[in-house]
Amino acid sequence: MSRKVAQPPSANDGAGSPTRGIADATPSMTRFLEIKAANPDSILWYRMGDFYELFFEDAVKVSAALGIVLTKRGKHLGQEIPMCGVPVVRADDYLQRLIRLGYRVAVCEQLEDPREARKRGSKAVVRRDVVRLVTPGTLTEDTLLDAKTRNYLTALHAVPVAGGFALASLDISTGEFEVGMAGGEDLAGELARLAPGEIVASGDTLGMPQVKRWLDALGIASSPVAAASFDARAGERALKERLQVADLGAFGTFSRGELAAVAALITYVDLTQIGHRPVLRTPRRTGPDAILVIDAATRASLELIKSTSGDRRSCLLGIMDHTVTASGARELAARVASPLKDVRAINGRLDCVSFFVEHDALCELLRDQLRKAPDIARATSRLALQRGGPRDLDAIAQGLAASAAVGVLLKSESEKMGLPADLEALLQRLADIAEAVHAGLASALAADPPHLKRDGGFVRAGFRNDLDEARGLGADSRRILVALETKYVEATGVKALKVRHNNILGYYIEVTQLNAKPLQSPPLDTLFRHKQTMANAMRFTTPELVEIEGRIASASERALAIEIEVFNELARMVHANEAALGHVAGALAELDHLCGLATLAREHDYVRPAIDDSTVFDVRGGRHPVVELALKASKAGAFIENDCTLGSKPNLPTGFDEQAAGRLWLVTGPNMAGKSTFLRQNALIALMAQMGSFVPARSAHIGVVDRLFSRVGASDDLARGRSTFMVEMVETAGILNQATEHSLVILDEIGRGTATFDGLSIAWATVEHLHEVNRCRALFATHFHELTQLAGRLSEVANVTVDVKEWQDEIVFLHKIKPGAADRSYGIQVAKLAGLPRRVVRRAGEVLARLEKNNRRTGGGGSTLEDLPLFATMPVAVEVKMPPMSAVEAALAEARPDELTPKAALELLYRLKALMV
Ligand code: ATP
Repeated sequence: MSRKVAQPPSANDGAGSPTRGIADATPSMTRFLEIKAANPDSILWYRMGDFYELFFEDAVKVSAALGIVLTKRGKHLGQEIPMCGVPVVRADDYLQRLIRLGYRVAVCEQLEDPREARKRGSKAVVRRDVVRLVTPGTLTEDTLLDAKTRNYLTALHAVPVAGGFALASLDISTGEFEVGMAGGEDLAGELARLAPGEIVASGDTLGMPQVKRWLDALGIASSPVAAASFDARAGERALKERLQVADLGAFGTFSRGELAAVAALITYVDLTQIGHRPVLRTPRRTGPDAILVIDAATRASLELIKSTSGDRRSCLLGIMDHTVTASGARELAARVASPLKDVRAINGRLDCVSFFVEHDALCELLRDQLRKAPDIARATSRLALQRGGPRDLDAIAQGLAASAAVGVLLKSESEKMGLPADLEALLQRLADIAEAVHAGLASALAADPPHLKRDGGFVRAGFRNDLDEARGLGADSRRILVALETKYVEATGVKALKVRHNNILGYYIEVTQLNAKPLQSPPLDTLFRHKQTMANAMRFTTPELVEIEGRIASASERALAIEIEVFNELARMVHANEAALGHVAGALAELDHLCGLATLAREHDYVRPAIDDSTVFDVRGGRHPVVELALKASKAGAFIENDCTLGSKPNLPTGFDEQAAGRLWLVTGPNMAGKSTFLRQNALIALMAQMGSFVPARSAHIGVVDRLFSRVGASDDLARGRSTFMVEMVETAGILNQATEHSLVILDEIGRGTATFDGLSIAWATVEHLHEVNRCRALFATHFHELTQLAGRLSEVANVTVDVKEWQDEIVFLHKIKPGAADRSYGIQVAKLAGLPRRVVRRAGEVLARLEKNNRRTGGGGSTLEDLPLFATMPVAVEVKMPPMSAVEAALAEARPDELTPKAALELLYRLKALMV
């Protein structure tokens, strides 16, 4: 279910609501109330020492949601103030849970040391303000994110004139950025492809029924923003400024809608990051021209990113992922979600995979280096947002070291025998690496630095003299302390006297109660000053100890200050080289995913597909990538490979005649024979080929597919109030309205969800429409054996069936596709195999025999379909496919003349004229 980013109520009356009575509150509470009033839509985390405290309704809600104790603190308007707290050290954990529940959190920090505040007077309030709004789409911490999954924040903008939507998406944890358009019908597929963590859109856009429906169905959180923030001019300005260019031409042409979406995206990022600017990489242009269009239902039914049961391992991505870095895995996921359409680009990628398949030793050496490369992109982004620590600097240093090693390996190969063009370009990006950045980081950082900079100890000894000096002073002082302890033992004669330290008292001298006397009697009583009495011990100090303590404190304070200065310098250097680091991070991710694809191909014996602009689909010896591995893992026998030759005339597989070159195959066969598997495997092979991967087959020749549709199996969509049959028909309608000659359509059992004749009629008409109007390549599995007669009537329809053997009234599945039509479904045999009670199976057999006998007597059914008037040569509806609407037509269709004022009508006229230019 979609989640509105939860907006905790704040303006009610009563103790639960803080907004009344600011005038009566203490100064500290007054500040809290001011901040809360400025962030009414967020849960406010108010930093107080080692805790983030929550008050009023926020506390009540969060304590219930997270199961933390609700307490009270002071009074407001005569009522106790509910409060709960989250320890700072465990903040990420609680934050993650709240974000998952759909809340947004305003994090309010102390902006000064409480000691500073005290200097302004004992009642002075520590300066605090909100430093960040945490929302599902603006996360950066590793603990809050899945390392292998991208987390987009997407601005969605309805553009009625273009009849579609503009989408601008940014993953602020890596700087990955993409902008594109989606037609109204493609919105769901685009949202499923981007899978954003959060959508921002105007209230009007969020209120559109199709937007609402799909955000709901895909479970995407949404945040309404002002319509005014979708301002194309502001978007253009912001983009130029962030990308530091005078002209955006180098990135392609942006429509006004796209720029408006960019504007809203950047405004929202600025609003939530409060002054900190995330990395913004060069925008990737997306949209139906660049990418194989796959609708949301097809994505789900092909189980691309997760299986229908939600499992991420037994889906296409799960079995394809042989990457060794998190960024490589994210790259692969992005490519599985967005296969290409451009033949040259696809072949460019395939050249790289081929190269690594052939040079497996080099591939392994590269993977060894990549394994040592941490996530440069996420570390750089955290540093840009000032949320980074020493480990992020170290990650970049190690990543750059790995990239240098990778560069050396590739370069020597390039000099020896040359690299494919895409790999040469990738090598250039690695060479782009600011070597100075690596040298700078490596010379400054100590091994295994701490997570937080305030812990110190991350700057290498010998890097800065003043730091070495301060550290030396600290170490010396410690030696002096040991000497002091010996001196006091001698002076007092108390052998058990110890100089100790704790965080509250600092340094002190401790003796047991029994031994305290010499320290409290003349002449030593003037030297030892009593500090604390414990059950068994007494604690003292001396002026000398106080002086040494001061020295130690100031030396370590100074050392830490120097380390932080070094940190800031290094972070500035990283910031100045963000673009180069982005190139390196991108190149490493790409290389990892290419080597992963080569490893996958080698391990499972995949082949390079031949890709061109034709409408051929010729797969020989194809396998289902996921089912094949599942069978292997369960040792349930080998996967049986199958050919599929849609629209391929020459060299047909043995046993297949000319008819099998038809564009549309009707697949009949018993239940459980493997029809769905065959259908899906071919869709997956096309998709894998177009993302630039080798494919599970003996050979594959694929004319680029522009849209991939898969309607497999029946599923209810009760949450959206649609029955199985309704869902089936809506999806089929989408296919029939959109498939083109270059599309690939997989339809499994259309028309099964209604009465037999209704279903058969719909299936029949659907096949005709696909054949005559869409003229696409299609696989159509059905149990309506009557449909097989279409093969004789429609030139491009061919019948294939899945082979089975009957043995002693049992059925044996051979899983082999062969030409021809199945004679029956063997449903009763399969039911028997499934363990249906013997009585029911026997009875079903009797009923079937009687039905068949009746049918023969009355002359209905079977192969005498001609006798049914309904199916007597149905005239083929030669429906003219409407060309897409022009901008002018779309604007006219949109206009409501009755609602136009004279001025608006004139404006419309001007707009129409402008659109015609
Ligand atoms: P139904 O008509 O009942 O939906 P179906 O014909 O679509 O059945 P599938 O669901 O594709 O059958 O396949 C059933 C099972 O057969 C699969 O789970 C798989 O384990 C096995 N199978 C399918 N194809 C093959 C194959 N080519 N080689 C080996 N096993 C296969």
